[in-house]
Amino acid sequence: MAVSYKAVSGKTYSLFGSDTSTDLYFRTIRTIADSLLVLCPDPRTLLLHVQKAGGMRFKKGSDYAPDDALIAHIRKTLHDALHAYTQAVREHLKGIPFSQRFDKTIGTKEEGYHLYMLEIELVNRIYREAFRKSDYKFALLPHCLRDFRPQCKSVPGDMEYICMGCTEDCFVRLGSRLLKKYGIEPYISVTTDQERLFRRLKEEHPNIGALGIACIPELAQAMRLCINLGIPPIGIPLSANRCARWMRQAYETSFSLEELEELI
Ligand code: SF4
Repeated sequence: MAVSYKAVSGKTYSLFGSDTSTDLYFRTIRTIADSLLVLCPDPRTLLLHVQKAGGMRFKKGSDYAPDDALIAHIRKTLHDALHAYTQAVREHLKGIPFSQRFDKTIGTKEEGYHLYMLEIELVNRIYREAFRKSDYKFALLPHCLRDFRPQCKSVPGDMEYICMGCTEDCFVRLGSRLLKKYGIEPYISVTTDQERLFRRLKEEHPNIGALGIACIPELAQAMRLCINLGIPPIGIPLSANRCARWMRQAYETSFSLEELEELI
C-alpha cells in the first residue's frame, strides 16, 4: 500500500519546501554533493571542508588543509539551492531567548542547516557500505513520531523503547517494519545521554552500525558522535522539525520511507 505524506512545515525547516513531496529535496542534495565531488573527489576530504565551513576546529598537527575558495563556493552553492527549505530559521532565531542562542541544536543558523544537510548526505555515502556489513545494526527513531499519540503502546526494550505496532499509519510502525525486513533492529529513542548508550553498545557489539532518523541538527551531531566512537552511521532527516522541543507541543511529522529503503 502506498504511503501518503502530508506536506508539513517545521519550526525551522521543511524538506517539502513548497512542494507536496520531499523528492525534490533529496534530488537537490544529491546533485549538490555530486557537483562538489567533481571539485573535490575524496568525500572524506569534502566532509572536512563542510565541517570547517560550519566552524569545526581541527587539532594542531592535523593533516587537514583548508581550501578557502572551495569553502566559499560550498557556502554559496548551498544557500542558493537550499534556502527554500529553511526559510523559517531566521524568524525562529529572533524568537528564542538569549540563553538558547548558543544551543547547538535550537540555535543552529540557516547556513548551519545547509551544511548539516550536505554533511548527512556525505556521511551516508562514506559509511553506507560499512553500515551494511556490520554484524549488528540498530536504528533509533525519534520519540516525537509517537509523542502526540496518547494511545501509543510502545514498551521498554533491552536498550530503548520498542514499537508494538498498534496504529496502522504511524511512521514508527512503518519504519520499524521496513528496518526489520533488512535485519536492522528498530528502537524508539528516549535516552538523552546518547554517548553513554553508544559506548555501551559498541562494547557489547564491536562490529556495530547505527541508523538515525532525527531532525537535521540532531542527526548530524549524532553521526559525528558515532564516527568518533568507531560506529559507522547512516541516517534520514525528518521531513520537518515539529516536536515539543521546537514547538512547545508535538505535531505530526514524517520521514521518507522510500529514501530509507534506498539507503539500506
Ligand atoms: S505504532 Fe508503535 S510507535 Fe506508533 S503509536 Fe503504536 S506502539 Fe506507538
